[in-house]
Amino acid sequence: MSLQPSEIDRDEVKRLASEFEGAPLTEVLAWLWEKFGERAAIGTSFQGAGLVMIDHALNAGLRFPVFTLDTNLLFPETYELKARLEKRWGITIEGLQPEQTPEQQAAEYGAELWKKGPDVCCTLRKVVPLQKKLSTLAVWITGLRRQQSDTREGAQILGLYHFDVLRDLYILKANPMATWKREAVWDYIKANGLPYNALHDRGYRSIGCWPCTRATDAGENERAGRWTGFDKAECGIHTFLGDSI
Ligand code: SF4
Repeated sequence: MSLQPSEIDRDEVKRLASEFEGAPLTEVLAWLWEKFGERAAIGTSFQGAGLVMIDHALNAGLRFPVFTLDTNLLFPETYELKARLEKRWGITIEGLQPEQTPEQQAAEYGAELWKKGPDVCCTLRKVVPLQKKLSTLAVWITGLRRQQSDTREGAQILGLYHFDVLRDLYILKANPMATWKREAVWDYIKANGLPYNALHDRGYRSIGCWPCTRATDAGENERAGRWTGFDKAECGIHTFLGDSI
């Protein structure tokens, strides 16, 4: 299902990324649907941009499969939001599970692995489950935005993602929200009455697992509340093997 390097015309991907730079969101999504159908799937952690993107897709009749990385360590508010969105949109959002429960992980690696080895914890609970999912797809669609942080400012609307070095497997990665500003995302959410994570109203601007997320202060970037105390800004799913965001 996934792409081999020889199947990819890298120049064509670059050309399309440039062409899509100023295109409306629905136009990019429609191109992905027409070309790949259900082999393109949206991955979301229920941040605002992902919600806007899924809403645009469904309103245009583009029924991409939707999945989330359920680390089993998400906030109760996040699980509540997932249920509300499924009801509103009439879809099922697949929760990708790690191989181990938090208890099994603690038994093997020690309690609270996120405090001493967050990279290992993220690999076990996010990167590996995502890799398995991507091996069934041709395109991974994300809600990533350039404005979110320094690590994301180079995000392209379409690019390649080398997700499995052992099998040399690639996938197309689409970031159709890359150029969107936070204000435009929230204007859309409010104007359309989309449900959103209740934690946003309590100062949380980027929301991940409860042990590694805090509210942010004015002046901090949107993802500053993730992995406080560590030199870590990404869980690894967007930077695996050093690929571009
Ligand atoms: S964000 Fe924290 S708790 Fe979640 S997988 Fe990564 S290190 Fe573990």
